[in-house]
Order: sequence, then C-alpha cells, then structure tokens
Amino acid sequence: MVDTERYRCPVCKASFRGANLCLRCGVTLDPILRIAAEASALRAKAATLLRYGHFEEARQAAARAQRYDATETGRDLLSLIQWCLKNVVMDSEATEI
Ligand SMILES: [Zn+2]
Repeated sequence: MVDTERYRCPVCKASFRGANLCLRCGVTLDPILRIAAEASALRAKAATLLRYGHFEEARQAAARAQRYDATETGRDLLSLIQWCLKNVVMDSEATEI
C-alpha cells in the first residue's frame, strides 16, 4: 500500500491526494506511484526473507526499496536486517567452532 499523502507532484509540488493525475496541473503521477508500489512490495519481500532467516537477500531487497523510495520504516527495516546479518550470523559461526 502506498501512502500518497507524503508525495508531491514533480511539476507543481501539489499533494497527490490519491489521484493518478495531479489535481492542480494535470500531469500523470503513475510513474511515481509505480515506483512507490514497487518499493513497498520490495519491503514486504524483505520482511518475509528476514522472517525465514535469509538475511543477505532481505538486505538486498530492503536496500533496493530504499533506493527507489526512501522511507523511515524502510530505513528501520534495513537497520534491523543489518543488525541480524552482523549478530545472528556471528552467533551461528561461533557455534560452528
Ligand atoms: Zn502538478
């Protein structure tokens, strides 16, 4: 789900207000909405990968989502994944010794 309230029209800077066309200048907002939706899907995928312990794949998906559309939630998810990569992998390596 894309929170359209936080986006602005790239042409006139009006709020999106959930429409595919800017209500002020009429420019199509579809490309931006598609990128935001892709970023949201990547974050959902990253969360699933994290849940199943696929930390590196989760990191890649979360980092890609942040490149597409940086959000505070996405930053927090990426930080959590990076923490797991550093700490959980180190713990499992420690048990192998
Ligand atoms: Zn506009």
